[in-house]
Amino acid sequence: MLKNELKTDLLDKVVSLCKRRGFVYPSAEIYGGFAGFWDFGPYGLALKKNIKALWWKLFVDWREDMYSIDAALVTKREVLEASGHVGGFSDPLTDGSRFNTMFSTSVGAGKEAATAYLRPETAQGIFTNFKNIVDSFHPELPFGIAQIGKAFRNEIAPRDFLFRVRELEQMEVEYFVREKEWQEAFEMWRKKIHEWIQAVGIDSKKVHELEVPDSERAHYSKRTIDFEFDFPFGRKELCGLAYRTDFDLRNHQTMSGVNLSWTDEEMDEQFIPHVVEPSLGFDRTILAVLLSAYTEDEMNGEKRTVLKLAPAVAPVKVAVFPLLKNKPELVKKAREVYQLLRSTLHVTGYTIAWDDNGNIGKRYRRQDEIGTPFCVTVDFDSLEKGDVTVRDRDTGKQERVGIPNLIDRFRKVFV
Ligand code: ATP
Repeated sequence: MLKNELKTDLLDKVVSLCKRRGFVYPSAEIYGGFAGFWDFGPYGLALKKNIKALWWKLFVDWREDMYSIDAALVTKREVLEASGHVGGFSDPLTDGSRFNTMFSTSVGAGKEAATAYLRPETAQGIFTNFKNIVDSFHPELPFGIAQIGKAFRNEIAPRDFLFRVRELEQMEVEYFVREKEWQEAFEMWRKKIHEWIQAVGIDSKKVHELEVPDSERAHYSKRTIDFEFDFPFGRKELCGLAYRTDFDLRNHQTMSGVNLSWTDEEMDEQFIPHVVEPSLGFDRTILAVLLSAYTEDEMNGEKRTVLKLAPAVAPVKVAVFPLLKNKPELVKKAREVYQLLRSTLHVTGYTIAWDDNGNIGKRYRRQDEIGTPFCVTVDFDSLEKGDVTVRDRDTGKQERVGIPNLIDRFRKVFV
């Protein structure tokens, strides 16, 4: 097989696993699909939830200088005029006319109706709330405002599964600094992005920094690093880090007529803060996570497919099985173990699943394909000795663990 075919093959395999196992479905599939739109099934949703929670921990909760916001998706025209999107957010068309990739809509009825847009990035809702956060919380500089949420881009050619979609989700921070501090902040977020790539389970050997040259940077940026990933269809942008200067706040100040400067009372000066922005696309993150995790190997002489997801993001953390479904005493004991794990781990957000479908081999195959780090089997010995078999997804190694020790065994890995 040619190298390229092998690579496309990997993408096809991931797409097919996502569909088969309930991660991602084509949107409006029964009507032939809808290019650039995807729906997330139960495991996709769980993966999404875990990835977001991890991002939130690393970028927001574990820091003391962050605030958060959830701004409206439908955005007033003036906001996107000030940001340059109404005039400039366009892609070239083959026949030479340019096409604005924002989705427009109309708000209100009749003569009162006003053109508005589905936001093309989460950043602008942060800038328009800058003054609100300052007035409510009086933060010291530097500080950041984070937002996770949907954004919409009417891409001319959506493609490559979750890579280029029309309805996407972003995880963004706008970090406000004094102008002279921007390089220090830029380096700090650069390190944080690498830390994130490692934590979320993206293969860091496949991630490369690209210093974006002057001619290719967005209109607002004085320095941008693209973090590129070796996707099967080529090396492409996964996420970005940009120094946006004071471009956005300054333009919003001019357009709105509202003073958006920062007052330094000690120095008795006023200035518009500058901004460093780590901007991550959620859909590309999921795709890179899945491509990094997808593995085909052989275990006990059998070929298997396994998603080697980082335990922190795996949709199911532990699956509990009774060895045989038709032995009430085994089912009863297994339910006790399941309830024990649920009442201690599930409640803290670690999904524990019950699986008694098919034989043990089939259950392992299913759990491997969805990336469950551990399977717990309750067998006849469990009834006598009070222990269970814990099987490790990656090595296939099985160990006997006493039921009372299970919680500690798993907490070590998940926390
Ligand atoms: P590209 O050059 O690939 O179109 P971009 O430079 O326009 O991307 P940004 O505006 O910097 O992207 O958006 C920040 C992040 O949002 C990107 O790094 C990417 O992860 C994600 N993103 C942007 N557009 C899309 C899209 N159409 N589908 C999926 N993710 C996207």
